[in-house]
Amino acid sequence: MDRRQFLKIGTLSTGAVMAGGLPAGAKTETVKTYSSALETQGYVKEPARRIPVVDKADVVVVGGGPAGFAAAVAAARQGSDVLVLERQYFLGGLFTGCGVTPIINMYNPVRDGEPVKAVSGICEELCDRLDKVGMLNYEKVRPKVDPEAAKYYMEEMLSEAGVRLLYGVQAAEILMSGDRIATVIVEGKSGRVAIKADYVIDCSGDGDILEWAGEDFNVYKEDIGAMWRIGHAAASPRGNVTCIPGVLTRHTTGERQQDGLDMYNLTRIQLGLRKMMWEDAMDLRKNPGCEDLYLLDTPSVVGVRITRVLNSVANVTVEGAAVGKSYDDVIGFTGGDSTLSWEDKKVKVGSRKIWQVPYSALLPKKVTNLLVAGRCFGFERGLTYDAREIGTCLMTGQAAGTAAGIAALKRCGCREVNVPELQANLRRQKVKLDW
Ligand SMILES: Cc1cc2nc3c(=O)[nH]c(=O)nc-3n(C[C@H](O)[C@H](O)[C@H](O)COP(=O)(O)OP(=O)(O)OC[C@H]3O[C@@H](n4cnc5c(N)ncnc54)[C@H](O)[C@@H]3O)c2cc1C
Repeated sequence: MDRRQFLKIGTLSTGAVMAGGLPAGAKTETVKTYSSALETQGYVKEPARRIPVVDKADVVVVGGGPAGFAAAVAAARQGSDVLVLERQYFLGGLFTGCGVTPIINMYNPVRDGEPVKAVSGICEELCDRLDKVGMLNYEKVRPKVDPEAAKYYMEEMLSEAGVRLLYGVQAAEILMSGDRIATVIVEGKSGRVAIKADYVIDCSGDGDILEWAGEDFNVYKEDIGAMWRIGHAAASPRGNVTCIPGVLTRHTTGERQQDGLDMYNLTRIQLGLRKMMWEDAMDLRKNPGCEDLYLLDTPSVVGVRITRVLNSVANVTVEGAAVGKSYDDVIGFTGGDSTLSWEDKKVKVGSRKIWQVPYSALLPKKVTNLLVAGRCFGFERGLTYDAREIGTCLMTGQAAGTAAGIAALKRCGCREVNVPELQANLRRQKVKLDW
């Protein structure tokens, strides 16, 4: 869809239409901006300017989603001074901001048997806190979590670990010094400012940092959807239970194969999803006993499943996940709680093996002080629906944070981190590395 088609979407407010449109008759050409192709009417030249350096940290974590949260806690527990840069005003990323309640891949569902816990460590610590206050529905396979409670306990855990947090800042650029990232430039209400970093962990979900650093990556397109909550919904024929009585979640996989890096496309999709969610609630009201049902909340972030994925030192392969391949540099296990296509077969949930993530899948090939965790670490296309689940993101985040903390202590590059030392450290944190 081009921007003229975008203008035609009905029932939008004038403000929204203006935000998406070029003046009629404007001459356009298509240019590549970052990883998307956008239309442009020309160019302006940005004058060079001095940018104030306002902060520095041993470890800068870009993004406070599940991966960034776990990475920050883990790095701080190694003794590093850690600064998280988050563009929203809450932690959890898609987990809490897109109303996602079940933590998938924490367990491996086994057909006709007890599910097996694959991810422990910080993921389990968070779940325990939520469980204590009744804000986690321990359904074993996919623990359902209250997003507001999760935001609160993630902030609590960051604070206890001594992590410094900066909300409302978007990482906008990086400055390199040789093969190291020296500075992260952010934009926020204080303007454009610079932050010095010894080590950087890219937990932006979209791999913003790894692209700017010149790393190799793939861009995947997937469904962009939403999860939302309805209240007064006990009698609703549709919806999934939550921790709060009478509140149900609803879900749409959304539009297929969408570009999650095109701001016009994202705005269009978010507007369409909000309309759909509202109409869904109104439709549900027609059911007996549902007359007072209401739309409780809609996602505050757009539900982008995948965009950039690192081409790492050694990507996890579909075969590796399917057969449960062992790696010498394993840093965690993950559940395998989605259907996997492998060798022209569908390996169904319940028959899937627990699979391993090696440290080398978090390592970029060029930059020496960068690690990548969460939905943009290195894996093959066929693992998109598996590698990005919250359980896996928490696990890769914890490993990346621990590795960055060790590297900061040793003053070594991320690829020089001693793997047995990293693994021993993770075991002390109750991360499962043995089966
Ligand atoms: C509709 C939908 C349903 C889903 N359902 C489930 C489910 O049922 N169970 C499950 O386990 N998983 C589910 N997922 C997947 C899961 O929620 C995500 O894959 C997971 O949250 C990714 O974690 P992350 O930390 O890698 O990235 P994100 O959650 O995307 O977090 C990235 C964070 O970085 C911040 N950020 C990004 N760029 C910048 C920047 N340049 N500067 C500063 N901050 C930045 C963002 O604001 C965000 O907070 C679903 C996803 C979607 C979209």
